[in-house]
Amino acid sequence: MGDALTGRVLNIQRMSTEDGPGLRTTVFLKGCSLACTWCHNPESIAARPQTVWHATRCIGCRTCLTVCPEGAITHAADGVRVDRDRCAGCGACAEECPAAALELLGQAGERSWERLNSLFGNPVIPARKVER
Ligand code: SF4
Ligand code: SF4
Repeated sequence: MGDALTGRVLNIQRMSTEDGPGLRTTVFLKGCSLACTWCHNPESIAARPQTVWHATRCIGCRTCLTVCPEGAITHAADGVRVDRDRCAGCGACAEECPAAALELLGQAGERSWERLNSLFGNPVIPARKVER
């Protein structure tokens, strides 16, 4: 297992009809190095996990302030702010947010597999290169 190829899952998109042949389920990974000028997913560029805040879901309960072990979250007049330099990507804020207003992009390990398996059942089919 030492040489196993691993990755951080950014998103799993079903019913994909763009950017490739046929009707597919697309697994987006973090750490894209292509730097396309028309990139539609800039959140995929950084390889590390990143926390995003969805303003329309937030109920202002401030739970995230208390659970962040790094003190990376503050509340401002215009909403929640995450200090990306301090954020360690632990995901605690996303787990504890009662409104799913915080989301950790780029989960690794078991959480990613759990999500994939919940969509497809065991075992997950290994990724393969799509010939164009
Ligand atoms: S825990 Fe979630 S709902 Fe509560 S203030 Fe933070 S982001 Fe908003
Ligand atoms: S992912 Fe962890 S370190 Fe980053 S803001 Fe959330 S609780 Fe804080």
